[in-house]
Amino acid sequence: MKTLPFALLCAAALPASAQTLSPERVAALRDAALTDDVAYDITEGLTTEVGQRLAGTEAEARARAWGVAKLKALGFKNVHIEPYDMPVWVRGEERAEILSPFPQKLTLTALGNSGATPATGLDAEIVAFPSIAALKAAPDAAVRGRIVYLTHAMQPTQDGSSYGAFGVVRRQGPTVASQKGAAAIVIRSIGTDHHRTPHTGVQVFAAGVAPIPAAALSIPDAEQLDRILKRGKPVRMRLLLTPRQTGVHPSGNVIAEIPGRDPKAGLIVIGGHLDSWDLGTGAIDDATGVAITTAAAKRILDHGRPLRTIRVVWFGAEEVGLFGGTAYAKAHAGEKHALLAESDFGADRVWRFDSRVAPAALPVMDRIADALAPLGIARGNNEGGAGSDIAPIAATGLPVVNLRQDGMRYFDLHHTPDDTLDKVDPVQLRQNVAAWTAMLAVVANDATELGPVTPGAE
Ligand code: ZN
Ligand code: ZN
Repeated sequence: MKTLPFALLCAAALPASAQTLSPERVAALRDAALTDDVAYDITEGLTTEVGQRLAGTEAEARARAWGVAKLKALGFKNVHIEPYDMPVWVRGEERAEILSPFPQKLTLTALGNSGATPATGLDAEIVAFPSIAALKAAPDAAVRGRIVYLTHAMQPTQDGSSYGAFGVVRRQGPTVASQKGAAAIVIRSIGTDHHRTPHTGVQVFAAGVAPIPAAALSIPDAEQLDRILKRGKPVRMRLLLTPRQTGVHPSGNVIAEIPGRDPKAGLIVIGGHLDSWDLGTGAIDDATGVAITTAAAKRILDHGRPLRTIRVVWFGAEEVGLFGGTAYAKAHAGEKHALLAESDFGADRVWRFDSRVAPAALPVMDRIADALAPLGIARGNNEGGAGSDIAPIAATGLPVVNLRQDGMRYFDLHHTPDDTLDKVDPVQLRQNVAAWTAMLAVVANDATELGPVTPGAE
């Protein structure tokens, strides 16, 4: 009888599931990650050495160069930039004051793609609406030539769902106000803090709609305006906003890989976005997202070659319109993606694990859930949504997992000058790295097909 070396015999005879790491080894990797310093090091380095990094600007280009150097230094392979072009809007001066009945300065910031006032500013009477529905229902004559003030009642939620519900004020308010002939619009910031730190964020005027000046008052300033309006007298505001569109400029995604043992098993894509708004230093949005996912991948890299290739993507230009995620989907549509996951909701602890995989792959998700439970993470459902950057490629029917972070203080800081390093809790950051490490340890060493899934089940 011919004999084969024992190891070769085993490899040939055993099913793919035998490639998997034992629960004990997954747990050991997870627990070691609770002492991680790589994620904090990336967050601290990016926010200190680059700082704010608005998409399409020279600062975002410096962030890409910083990312390439860091990922190479960590030992990742195939580190490179995938460029694309995009239109770029930049902030100018921004000032507001009440002229009457109670003259005083207010704190605000322009929303993305805001139009500009004349260089000398714009004076007009305020017309206030409690909701986008009320603005839509108003006769044009009540709005024409005025400054629309649009408010809302957003409260924090653990799952961040209030952002979807109230973010419409920012996303649609400027277009609706312009369509009705408003001179400008100011909104109550889409946020949940009580500090004089206004929240910016993108809005895009609908096709054919003239850009008007559009800005967000800090929440204390919005509440001040509410009290002034309640006095019942006409309120006049002077507004000076001088942002501008600067044309088309280069941006790009930074990509790094851990090559897997079996190319046929497909790629796992993880990451966050490298660009930030231009007010803070983009610590929680989203330096920590790239940091958490990279630190977890580094732990898998150091443990030995995984079965599946892990691709880490630091997406560009998320904030201003998903240019990086869209470019990635276009460039990589033909590749076999086994799983996608993104971290873009701050740095507070992961509290829930959702997935969207084929029913036959649920036992793999059960193994992840078992590994996450000791971190205080609950198993959610199998109807998980994709993060924004991975959404364009996920829409083709690819499986996703979602390690959901606690959102109770995220919208206190989101898109404000206060999004800075000191807000990152190193203990919660490490819990994130541990959760991502456990998830990767399971799926990167298992050949089970996780898809296909029903596209667009967001
Ligand atoms: Zn983000
Ligand atoms: Zn953001």
